[in-house]
Amino acid sequence: MRGYILGVESTAHTFSVSVVSSDGRILSNAKSVYKPPEGSGIHPFEASQSHLAAAPGVLAEAVDRSGVPLGDLSAISYAMGPGLGPCLRVGAVVARTLAASLGVPLVPVNHAVGHIELGCLLTGAKDPVVLLVSGGHTMILAYSGGRWRVLGESLDLTLGQLLDQFGRHHGLASPCGRAIEEAASTSTSYLRLPYAVKGNDVSFSGLLTASKLLLDGGRSFSEVSYSVQETAFAMVAEVTERALAFTGKKEVMVVGGVAANRRLSGMMSEMAERHGASVAMPPIEYSGDCGAQIAWTGWLAYKSDIKVPIEDSQVLQSWRLDRVDIPWRS
Ligand code: AMP
Ligand code: MG
Repeated sequence: MRGYILGVESTAHTFSVSVVSSDGRILSNAKSVYKPPEGSGIHPFEASQSHLAAAPGVLAEAVDRSGVPLGDLSAISYAMGPGLGPCLRVGAVVARTLAASLGVPLVPVNHAVGHIELGCLLTGAKDPVVLLVSGGHTMILAYSGGRWRVLGESLDLTLGQLLDQFGRHHGLASPCGRAIEEAASTSTSYLRLPYAVKGNDVSFSGLLTASKLLLDGGRSFSEVSYSVQETAFAMVAEVTERALAFTGKKEVMVVGGVAANRRLSGMMSEMAERHGASVAMPPIEYSGDCGAQIAWTGWLAYKSDIKVPIEDSQVLQSWRLDRVDIPWRS
């Protein structure tokens, strides 16, 4: 089956549209990212208004850049969830409108599966243990028996939330991961912080509280940033290592916005090397939320005949990826 698909991402801070070809070429990946005011997190309604305002321009840019006439699109995919309700609804409306006016199938995509499938496309990973670390997720996953199985996850905050809430406490605007990485790179002074691995799950809430207290106590942003990264990344490396040893797989893939962090990739590489496994990370441009994740996964789903009638289409704020059947991998 050959053709083109247009995918719409709008689960959280990013509104993005991409056109992808059936042979996995990303022909466009236009986006607009909502930035909350300094010191605050994403306000769902404000973010959705930003997406609404950006949607026509992002859509036009994605279609123009791709060079694909609208009439050549085989299907439209959208991130049905998980995510923020008001934001999800903007993407769903754009996708429904396009599918209805072009008379092509509408394909719902799970956002987290989108991170994984685009990662596999871009890195060539075939059957990896996946560490998904983003604003919305912290999960260790492996594919088995038709679904991605969760081998470990955060019991409270995601790794992205830990970094963003810590950064906001210092007065930065979300997302804060990159600023924390830069600050951390100027320090080597480790301050002891709670390390909480429970079974094969992690918990970051105690670490967040303790790191805020260190800042309040006058410790520098760079040394606390360094200590937060060392502690949190060691925790996720430990649980990923256990998943790797348990499954015997030979590839590790790190996806999600936090995958852009070089210290995290360094730790994951060292860990994987000890097991004779390779480490795959998608290019930074595609590690955070983007339409290409939804377009490519939408194509895989479309090929497996997954689609939804427009009148029955919905958004799901909570939609765990271990509930999603993945027929194209079986
Ligand atoms: P996503 O939800 O996949 O778009 O990922 C967004 C998350 O990635 C936010 O929590 C960011 O703070 C985080 N992030 C982005 N760049 C970096 C970085 N260089 N280091 C750590 N975290 C990052
Ligand atoms: Mg994401």
